[in-house]
Amino acid sequence: MRSFAQKALAVAAAVSAVASLTACGGSSAATDSGGKKITIGIKFDQPGLGFKQGSSYTGFDVDVARYVAKDLGYSDSQIVWKEAPSKQREALLQNGDVDMVVATYSITDKRKQVVDFAGPYFVAGQDLLVRANEKSIKGPNSLNGKNLCSVTGSTSAQTVKDHFANKVQLMEQTGYAECVTALISGTVDAVTTDDIILAGLASAKGGGNLKLVGKPFTQERYGIGVKKGDTAMVKKINAALKKMEADGSWQKDLASATKGTGYKPNSKYNPPTDFDAQSSSTDF
Ligand code: GLU
Repeated sequence: MRSFAQKALAVAAAVSAVASLTACGGSSAATDSGGKKITIGIKFDQPGLGFKQGSSYTGFDVDVARYVAKDLGYSDSQIVWKEAPSKQREALLQNGDVDMVVATYSITDKRKQVVDFAGPYFVAGQDLLVRANEKSIKGPNSLNGKNLCSVTGSTSAQTVKDHFANKVQLMEQTGYAECVTALISGTVDAVTTDDIILAGLASAKGGGNLKLVGKPFTQERYGIGVKKGDTAMVKKINAALKKMEADGSWQKDLASATKGTGYKPNSKYNPPTDFDAQSSSTDF
């Protein structure tokens, strides 16, 4: 049998092993030994919203995330950016891999079962992106027999499945940039997701050969996702969003993020003033 001292030593060694594991776990959403950090999930491939180029991050979601983080006490250098593809957002929050998700993330009843939302901070609408010479696709009612592309785990793909399943073929990708490639090559006839995302991609990748149909058929209310039950965090984020709108940053950042794309936010819903985490809806 081991003496008390030996047991105590063994326990101490085990504790320190755990402690050093935690300290070295660079991807942890919690604070690390070098000062406090906040880990934020964004898109890396949506120009004008969440876009990574080398070590620089740009877009309206990035601006909103930076503003909120600053209000919570984190400087730019204390933010750890992590890619949050559509399908992985809930899991990233549930596993504690990120502290918040600011990634064109629509508030929905289904997602609210597993995560909480602050916001909305923006309201987009699902639309269609087609080739510039496309004549037959004029809106959601002219999709008979067409091939569409959207992203796995998005409300956009879900809306297609719920409302057009019997008349279209849906190809699902992990990101919208892949869908745009499929549209340019002729593999699909249209890409469908939020108008603001499509406008950014068309301008960055379309080379003048793509156009937005311009008949949005849903209201996508963008929220900031946090871990389920963190109501204190939701309150703090909503207070920051309110400030962002009141001091003009929201307007300035949105204008600069969408500059040159021709995109105009729907003024009926923007900027949102009730931070009530109300779910998104469709026009059907
Ligand atoms: N806003 C929609 C959603 O949250 C589509 C955009 C996206 O996939 O990020 O699913």
